[in-house]
Amino acid sequence: KVRSIMKDVPRHFFIDEAMASHAYENASLPIGYSQTISQPQVVALMSQAIADGECERVLEIGTGCGYQTAILAQLFDKVWTVERIEGLYQKAQEKLNELQFNNIEFYFGDGFNTPYEDDFFDAIVLTAAPEEVPEALLKKLKSGGRLVAPIGNEHQILTRFIYDGQTFKKQELGEVSFVPLLGGTN
Ligand code: SAH
Repeated sequence: KVRSIMKDVPRHFFIDEAMASHAYENASLPIGYSQTISQPQVVALMSQAIADGECERVLEIGTGCGYQTAILAQLFDKVWTVERIEGLYQKAQEKLNELQFNNIEFYFGDGFNTPYEDDFFDAIVLTAAPEEVPEALLKKLKSGGRLVAPIGNEHQILTRFIYDGQTFKKQELGEVSFVPLLGGTN
């Protein structure tokens, strides 16, 4: 399912014209503000990793250009997406509105400190890397929920946490390279 959705999302639409000729290479690309759009293969892996189970509500920390948001909006009933750089927050919103998604809530702020309730999300995805998984985000998972995040500094491991209502099962999915998850807003 993830693969077929990704075929229908025009990646070039989310990227500046100067870079658009590279849109269909399996590479991360600059999106301004020293940030990057993730490699499509990694977006697929992360989306797949959170899609098995109930898919009602998903939280994305790090909207960036909104490319992965568009994929999540087709896998889940509703997406909440958080971005700490105002210019990206605004641009992603324009792009996704243009594509006529109506199941995305945009939030400008720090993903370490969101207004959402605990026990609320079926899935959470971090598109920037924290050193350790933020406990406050794990708490927002419902029973049966999945969180996937790149964890670490220089060497990051894409990690999935699965919550069974009592404990978190941790699985490592492989080495990745993301921009760091930063605190505050910009
Ligand atoms: N999936 C995105 C990837 C963007 S890169 C895309 O397809 O474009 C990661 C994004 O996370 C950046 O835009 C960065 O500004 C944002 N980010 C980093 N730390 C954050 C935080 N604490 N809260 C919210 N967003 C954050």
